[in-house]
Amino acid sequence: MRATGQSETVLPFSVAAADLIIGASCAGCGRPAITLCASCAGMLTPQPRVAWPRPTPQILCQPSLIEPIASGIHEGPLRAVLAQFKEEGQFGLVRVLGHFLASSVCFAAPADRPVVLVPIPSTRVTRMRRGQDTIGDLSRAAAKAVRSIGIDCTVGSPLIHARRVADQSGLSAHDRSLNMSGALRMRSVAGLGGRSIIVVDDILTTGATVAEAVRVLTESGLRPASIAVIAATARHR
Ligand SMILES: [Zn+2]
Repeated sequence: MRATGQSETVLPFSVAAADLIIGASCAGCGRPAITLCASCAGMLTPQPRVAWPRPTPQILCQPSLIEPIASGIHEGPLRAVLAQFKEEGQFGLVRVLGHFLASSVCFAAPADRPVVLVPIPSTRVTRMRRGQDTIGDLSRAAAKAVRSIGIDCTVGSPLIHARRVADQSGLSAHDRSLNMSGALRMRSVAGLGGRSIIVVDDILTTGATVAEAVRVLTESGLRPASIAVIAATARHR
């Protein structure tokens, strides 16, 4: 993948100097590097595949199957890179992660129709804390990569939060489902007409978040075609 070029072109002396001056370290393993070391970059190869959460939320099965596609497992360097991007605001990683998401989108996209990516919206609190719209930014990077290989791909923003939700990390599958139930609502259907809808998130754990997005879209008569994420947790293997 292209991320290797970034670290391969940097001389070791420059990396060491950068590490001394600005504290540059690999987002995957923490060793001195600009963005990613060659070893981690080499391990970050998207491998898109179907990744059903178990148990599978019913809304993903009825009235039609909506397959979730993930390009990696949420562990090792990919887990570290996602954390650096989301929690430390390392925006330079958007290209690597956008490439993973783009691979899932290409795998998920129907062959004969233009697609629109529907990102899970960030909460206002998250946007303020991180200073970025995480899934929206990743979706725009992925859409750009997908368009570069000739697939008509746009990004819509039809969903907003209907109420506050708790941080999902640390919640059980049951509590995640309760936390997300009724948490989203439709804001606008602009840009969705005539396109296959792909719901986009960063990490697939229990599927509670994407299930809520699918529920809202389905109830609006806009049944999504599929779900694309960067990584699924190990339980999906
Ligand atoms: Zn590394």
